[in-house]
Parts: sequence; C-alpha cells; structure tokens
Amino acid sequence: MIYLNGQFMPIEEARIPVLDRGFIFGDGVYEVIPVYSRHAFRLAEHLRRLQHSLDGIRLKNPHSTTEWAALINRIIENNEGEDQYIYLHITRGVAKRDHAFPKDVQPTVFLMSNPLIHPAADLRETGVAAVTATDNRWLRCDIKAISLLPNVLLRQMAVDANAAETLMLREGFLTEGAASNIFVVYNDILLAPPKSHLMLPGITYDVVLELAEANSMQHEVREISEYEVRSAQELWMTSSTKEVLPITSLDGKPVGTGKPGHVYHRMYALYQEYKAEIMRA
Ligand code: PLP
Repeated sequence: MIYLNGQFMPIEEARIPVLDRGFIFGDGVYEVIPVYSRHAFRLAEHLRRLQHSLDGIRLKNPHSTTEWAALINRIIENNEGEDQYIYLHITRGVAKRDHAFPKDVQPTVFLMSNPLIHPAADLRETGVAAVTATDNRWLRCDIKAISLLPNVLLRQMAVDANAAETLMLREGFLTEGAASNIFVVYNDILLAPPKSHLMLPGITYDVVLELAEANSMQHEVREISEYEVRSAQELWMTSSTKEVLPITSLDGKPVGTGKPGHVYHRMYALYQEYKAEIMRA
C-alpha cells in the first residue's frame, strides 16, 4: 500500500497528472527513512531535514510532525517486512506549466515503503569499488531535491566502471558520493567533510560522528583534499539504506591495504549496537 494525497491504495492504482510540477520541473523534495523492526529510525531527524528541504524550495510543509509520524506508521503497518525503507516525496503540485510558483495549489504528497535490502555481508569483508568525478551539481546540495539528474549521471559512471559509488571532488576537495556521504581515515584519524550547501547533511553521517565522539575515536570535521582522499588508509560510504560500507578501491587502485580497515570494523560494530539499543528502547 502506498499513500497519495490523502488516500492509501495499491501502487498500481496510483496516478499523477502529467502537469505535476515534480514531473515537469523536478520541483519537489524527498526523504528516505529506514525502518528497523517496524520502527522508523531517527524519524525526528529525517522530518527536521525534510523541513529544511521544504524551506529551501519555499514550499509550506503540508503536515505537522505528528501527522507525518501517523502517516509513516500507517505505511509501515500496511507493508510487510520487519525492515523497510520509506520513500517520502512532496512536489509543488499540479498547475499549468509556468516556472513561477502557482497560487493556491495543493502539494502532491506521496509515500511508499519498500523492503530494506541490507548490503551483502561479504561486502564488509571485501569492500566496494568507487570512482571519482568532478562535482558538477548546483550549489544547494543541502536540499534533498527530487531533481537528481546530476546524481543519476554520476552514479551511472560508477556502474559503467563496475563500481558501487562515485566520489565527488569540487575544486580539489571531497564533497560526497552520488547517493552517500563519504568518510576518510587518514593518519589514523577519522575525517568527515563539514556540512555546507555543497553536500546533503546525512542522517547516517550524524550517527557515525556521534558514535565516534561517544566512543573517543579520534575524528575531525574539516575539508578533505583530493590528495588525502587518494592516499587514505580507509574510505567509507554512508547512507540510510547502505549504513556504513567500506570502499576498498578508488579509480582502480587499492585504498590502504585494499581491505576494510580496523576503524571501519569498529564503527560497523558500534553502528549495529546503536541500532539494537534504539530498537529496544
Ligand atoms: N548524500 C546524498 C547525495 C544522498 O543522496 C544521500 C542519501 O541517499 C546521502 C548523502 C546520505 O544521507 P542519509 O544518511 O540521510 O541517507
């Protein structure tokens, strides 16, 4: 069952008018929220980021936090599987095609749930490959906008190279992955690029930094140069659906020893403990 504009229905029955501004302009924002044991993970944080994205595109939030939580819980109840991920999508609605905002138009609100497929366990032992590319996106990458064409093209570059992710560099510094945030272990210190308009403030990114802080793992949030990326001991990618995955080759060259490092293994264990704790609470 999906939710579309006030109604729950099977996805096959859902219809969007062709003049929806999401279809015409990519004029909308979205969220992806993981669900573990039928509980939405870090829901408050995802809804806060949604508000930031809506503010960024000057679209009024169609629901209160309580209403969102109720809708999300109904979607979880109406779908099978202990672990799911919720895709939440809001567009500026249906109107005659004109770039300027339409007046008195209801936003389109769409929610669906899919099974959360955890990355294969052997990837934690082998790691994944990544490639690099110039970050050619706009300057508001902090907005989780549905217009993802650059990210689509960048991710396809990885797929074409038999890799899992594309790491982006802007003016010699790391920004993020096509659909993930990137962490670097360099000189035994865990490094993360600072949040800015050049990257999406990842919810998983926050969890990783909180765990590093709480467990006295040496870490720094600062700009990371291309040289540091290329000579890193470890590289990781993080996202709501992938959690934390080690990158063991970059542009065809091994990262560090070419195997997931000890800092990664520690963080992975901490992340799983944290999830288990939250779900027990
Ligand atoms: N950066 C980009 C461009 C993304 O698309 C995503 C998630 O899909 C992330 C970072 C990671 O964010 P989160 O950890 O909130 O899933």
